[in-house]
Amino acid sequence: MSEALRVRSPDAIVLRDLPLRIDRDEVLRFQGYKTRADVPTSSVLALFDEALAWGERLVAPRVVYRAARVTDQSADVIEAGGERLHIPEIARLWGRLDAVGAGICTIGEPVEEELRALFEAREFPLAMMLDSVGSAAAESLAEYANDLLCQAALPDGLKVTNRVSPGYAGWDTAEQAALFRLCPGEPIGVTLNQACFMTPTKSISFLVGVGAAARVDHYFAQCRRCWMRDCAYRRVPAERTVHR
Ligand code: SF4
Repeated sequence: MSEALRVRSPDAIVLRDLPLRIDRDEVLRFQGYKTRADVPTSSVLALFDEALAWGERLVAPRVVYRAARVTDQSADVIEAGGERLHIPEIARLWGRLDAVGAGICTIGEPVEEELRALFEAREFPLAMMLDSVGSAAAESLAEYANDLLCQAALPDGLKVTNRVSPGYAGWDTAEQAALFRLCPGEPIGVTLNQACFMTPTKSISFLVGVGAAARVDHYFAQCRRCWMRDCAYRRVPAERTVHR
């Protein structure tokens, strides 16, 4: 059972059994189809349908989230919860924050177990497609969480920024450990090793900024995939959502 999401919660909140929809375009992107002009063949689409049906049966989406008050902020650094996070140009990108929210998402172990079995059986095309389905499911879940946070923040007059993850946008992967101290993955069964790799591997960690003056949409329009109907704050129409 999921708990109510509070964007400034100092206690860890766990969300389970989320009605996640795996984005087809995201799967194809992991397969190397970079633009809408790249059209997959009918045999690729048949493989996609088969792998997607497996993926939808196997994914077990879980999210853990915890917020910490921002105690100091400069051009490239956020201090919160006793951690110093070095994220290039974050003050310009996110503006003034009240808090940061750390989240960890996973689709769980079953897809990886199935992948191991498919590779052992040398079912390579299906294995590769299922791998892309799993990766796309994890991305869709992170986007789902980002949209859910925005929805939860609006009644309190707060904004939630786009998510960023260690290893992206110049944020050193080594700070994954700091993110895990802010929000341990243990409640959803995600662990971090010395090399900052997560297990299960189809997991994503992220940080968002929270505040009345926070800037949103710095690298994509969050509303694009959000399913909230009649949202008075919607900035762009929904194209397709990650909610079933
Ligand atoms: S439509 Fe946009 S502003 Fe409204 S809750 Fe969704 S992401 Fe937030």
